[in-house]
Amino acid sequence: MKFILGLTGGIGSGKSAASAWFEAQNICVVDADVAAREIVMPNQPVLNAIRQAFGDWVLLENGELNRRALREHIFKVPEARKTLEQITHPAIRAAIIQQLAEAQSPYAILVSPLLFETNQHELTQRTLLIDASIELQIQRASARDGQSTEQILNIIQAQMPRDQKQQFADDIVLNDGHLDHLYLQLLPLHKQYLQQAEKKQS
Ligand code: ADP
Repeated sequence: MKFILGLTGGIGSGKSAASAWFEAQNICVVDADVAAREIVMPNQPVLNAIRQAFGDWVLLENGELNRRALREHIFKVPEARKTLEQITHPAIRAAIIQQLAEAQSPYAILVSPLLFETNQHELTQRTLLIDASIELQIQRASARDGQSTEQILNIIQAQMPRDQKQQFADDIVLNDGHLDHLYLQLLPLHKQYLQQAEKKQS
C-alpha cells in the first residue's frame, strides 16, 4: 500500500492552492469533490438510486442531476441529507479508493473538505490541515465564487469546527499570508512525506 496523505480545510482555506502546489511537485492528487460529481453523472447507478429515493424532480431535462433543487431540498429536510449521503458516500469512497490505487507518484494525496466528517481520513496514513481564520475564508471564497457572506457562513457551519479539525490533524499549515508563504510551509512537509513514503515501502 502506498503512503497517502489526507489534505483538508474549510471552504476558502486554500486546499486547492495547496493541492496545485503538490501537483507541481508531481504528486498525484485525488479530489473527493471531483469523485462526488463523477459518481452522479448520467448513466451512473448512483444517479438512478437518487431518483428512486427522491423522485423524478431530481433530474434536469437533459438527464443530469438537478444539483440546485437537491441542495435546496436537503437544506430544508435534514433526513433527506442522510438518505442522500447513505447513497452517495459509499460510492464516493469506492471511487476514491480506486483512484488512489492507480496513482503513480511516490505518495498520493486525497483532498477532501469533509475528510474527517465522512471518515475518509481512514483511507490515509497522515493528515494535513490547511487552516485559515473565518474572516479569511469568507474573503477568499467570496472573491473566488461571488457567494454572499451568508452563503459561505452556512457552508462553514455545516463543516466541522476549525478547532476540532486542528485537534484531528497531524500537520497544520496556517495559510494567513501570501501564497509564497503557504508554499514555503508546504516544502518541508513534502520532504517529510517523501521520506515517510520511502520508509513505508522498504
Ligand atoms: P479551498 O479549495 O480550500 O476552498 P482555494 O485554494 O480555492 O480554497 O482558495 C480560495 C481562494 O483564495 C482561491 O481563489 C485562491 O487562489 C485564493 N487563495 C488561497 N490562498 C491564498 C493566499 N495565501 N493568498 C492569496 N490568495 C489565496
